[in-house]
Amino acid sequence: KYHNELVRLKGNIRVFCRVRPVSQAELNEDKNVVTFDPNDDAVLQLSNKGKPLMFELDKVFPPEATQEEVFREVQSLITSCIDGYNVCIFAYGQTGSGKTYSMEGVENNPGINQRALRLLFSEISEKAPDWRFNITVSMAEIYNEILRNLLGDDPSEKLDIKICPDGSGQLYVPGLTEITVQSVEDINKIFGLGHVNRATACTNLNEHSSRSHALLVVTVTGFNTTTGHRTAGKLNLVDLAGSERIAKSGAEGSRLREAQCINKSLSALGDVIHALRAKQPHIPFRNSRLTYLLQDSLSGDSKTLMLVQVSPLDSNTCESVCSLKFAQRVR
Ligand code: ADP
Ligand code: MG
Repeated sequence: KYHNELVRLKGNIRVFCRVRPVSQAELNEDKNVVTFDPNDDAVLQLSNKGKPLMFELDKVFPPEATQEEVFREVQSLITSCIDGYNVCIFAYGQTGSGKTYSMEGVENNPGINQRALRLLFSEISEKAPDWRFNITVSMAEIYNEILRNLLGDDPSEKLDIKICPDGSGQLYVPGLTEITVQSVEDINKIFGLGHVNRATACTNLNEHSSRSHALLVVTVTGFNTTTGHRTAGKLNLVDLAGSERIAKSGAEGSRLREAQCINKSLSALGDVIHALRAKQPHIPFRNSRLTYLLQDSLSGDSKTLMLVQVSPLDSNTCESVCSLKFAQRVR
């Protein structure tokens, strides 16, 4: 009906939507504003003050979709970094829409981040002994356009993004800690360290994490022991700052600055993806720290997935519509 198969094959940018379930505390609130087409898993309908709106994406996950089901759809994207592709997965949406649930997950039900590393470990072990791989991880955060290292000694230090002096034009971040990982135990330790560092640099972790972007950067380099062939791929897993519009009248001082930084970097991300998709000659990577940092992983034959998170509540319809409009713009 909607020719989604054709759409899915087009380009390297995919947009998925995940609608989170209603929580126990929300059982009495108005919901059912979102409906799904049983014959088409790429369509979502939303009723905005009684007005029906239809959004077409590459895939829509209803509230009952499990972490496994979501991961199954992103698996091939993740393993492509073993073949040398650069990949970005972004979770976009208002605070409370399920971004962190999808990326980090919860105890006993990990999200994409941990599942991705587990999958990479198992895939590379199957390629041994012909191939030898090295996997490293970095964790960073961007808050108010300032980049910070979450795996080093001083999470308050500001990091700069520089151009490699080797003439390759590649960017690097001096001082960003990269740790080689070999097992699930290693990654759990590192995620723990990242969390502690993120918490120590701020007063209220919940508020802070909804206003900053959290990045997990995984590099996968391979070496073929018989042919000498080398590969290098990068996987960027990004839990974006909350996309909600902070009321202009209420925000002052630091809150206003936070809101401006978030709006600026999220719209810069939308502009970059839109420009890439439209094959525009100029891609405005420099308009935000996030797009500047990730430019190598967004351009060329890189692959991008935007996972747009949506709340099922009637009271959040405005923000849901905004998020879905963002999704349509980058698709
Ligand atoms: P965000 O990171 O976008 O602010 P969270 O990921 O913290 O949102 O989600 C808000 C709450 O909803 C959390 O308590 C989270 O555990 C819960 N939640 C989100 N998505 C799901 C889901 N798919 N299944 C179960 N609980 C979820
Ligand atoms: Mg979160």
